Amino acid sequence: MKQVLGKRRVISSQRELKALLERVMAKDGDYLVSGPRARKIAYGSGLVGMEIECRETHELKSLFNCPVCGHRLKLVKNMTVFGGTVNLGYRCEYCPYWTGLKRRVPTRYIFTRKSQ
Ligand SMILES: [Zn+2]
Repeated sequence: MKQVLGKRRVISSQRELKALLERVMAKDGDYLVSGPRARKIAYGSGLVGMEIECRETHELKSLFNCPVCGHRLKLVKNMTVFGGTVNLGYRCEYCPYWTGLKRRVPTRYIFTRKSQ
């Protein structure tokens, strides 16, 4: 991942990340990665922070797995004054993705190098 980043501090889209990753991997033979795979490699390296830009939809379907990294989502609940709980949404325990009851759909990823 260090090689992929080179001197860059910010990679401003998943497409760019994928291109950079493929260039480095091509040294070991032809290598193609999918966008989501590139994202998982980058974030999983621990060297890169990730910002997720989303748009809201009105879909109210339940989510079980994170659309960003595939890990299980945790239901976020809040206590009400009446002693019950309300569902506020979901958040991922692995990456920064979260969503309210209005589903947030990731539209863009920004990767930043973590300072060491
Ligand atoms: Zn996630």
